[in-house]
Amino acid sequence: MAEKAPKKRKPMIGLQPEGDVDWSTYRGVLVVVEQRGGRAKPVSWQLLGQASRLAAKLEAPVMALVMGSNVSHLAQEAIYRGADRVYLCDSPELENYRTRPYSRVCLHVIRTYKPEIVLMGATYTGRDLAGAIATHLPTGLTADSTQLEVDDERLLLASRPAFSEKMLATILCKQFKPQMATARAGVFEALPRDESRTGEIIPVPPQIKPEDIAVEVLEFLEATGKVNLEDADVIVAGGRGLGGPAGFRLLEELAAELGGVVGASRAAVDLGWISHDHQVGQTGTTVRPKLYFAIGISGAVQHVVGMQNSTYIVAINKDPQAPIFKIANYGIVGDLFHIVPAITETLRRRKA
Ligand code: FAD
Repeated sequence: MAEKAPKKRKPMIGLQPEGDVDWSTYRGVLVVVEQRGGRAKPVSWQLLGQASRLAAKLEAPVMALVMGSNVSHLAQEAIYRGADRVYLCDSPELENYRTRPYSRVCLHVIRTYKPEIVLMGATYTGRDLAGAIATHLPTGLTADSTQLEVDDERLLLASRPAFSEKMLATILCKQFKPQMATARAGVFEALPRDESRTGEIIPVPPQIKPEDIAVEVLEFLEATGKVNLEDADVIVAGGRGLGGPAGFRLLEELAAELGGVVGASRAAVDLGWISHDHQVGQTGTTVRPKLYFAIGISGAVQHVVGMQNSTYIVAINKDPQAPIFKIANYGIVGDLFHIVPAITETLRRRKA
């Protein structure tokens, strides 16, 4: 009796690209650099740092895709930040982000240059763009990753919190390429900027068709009142120890002197003392500022995971046993209502 040929594993219905695809031709890790007005989002450089680590394991190149208008300086910057090869699409039509024109360029670059991994920031723009292109390719996408590794079979292990952040799920995309993930800002470390690095810049023509321009952007208005923790160099964060919303006024004054913004623990947010966009931690924002003040915050693990990568951590707490002191570079034991105004006043006097 003739031996039965092994069954070919079929991907999910409707998602299979036409014909046999040789996935082994896909090589390299591509980071889509997000910018607004010619300024890159820090998450893009953080992802280039992680892409370099992954690419070193894969022995593959690090690629970056820069799209926008008057953004050629970002292509060079991407090389200083770890890219070996940069695809640059510089066109007035790409001045403002719009899903279809940006997707068109992304799809062209991915189909032409075939990276095995594509990474974007889990920002509003990154989430929109990644979802749009993943459905067109078609391939899998892990959103909002907090860990990115590769295994011996070149598979991307993208981990993200799941089930109300109680578990960490590791998601693999075994059947398609590229393997795509968006990742949270502040989780990965950017490489030190190195102006001696060299790389190749490959111009990409805009692939935009008239039907892609379905939306005209008339004006960009920055949302007011929302705090931008991700990009802040200094964060002055407060917790339940502040005793009420009035305590946050003290933090605002200190933050103003330091040119920083105000963060908060979940306890303070849940008590309604400050809005959720200020929350740092597992279910808030992951931050990586140069200076982080933890004031009246005990240092619960769910808070610490969101700020432990700050360059310097200063903790102010009246309890010398508070766990926050274990990760603080500088600890001040005492009553925050005396210490915080004293620091603010000292800074004011120095400036005067
Ligand atoms: P507390 O733990 O009550 O600490 C208050 C601190 O203030 C104490 O250490 C106290 O000694 C000090 N203090 C009091 N008065 C003074 C004073 N006058 N001067 C100086 N110090 C003073 N938490 C987050 O922060 N972010 C998250 O994203 C987050 N996600 C979570 C997700 C899940 C699934 C779960 C279960 C929990 C999460 N938490 C999160 C909650 C976390 O476990 C803690 O409950 C929370 O971080 C505690 O906030 P806190 O430190 O402000 O309050």
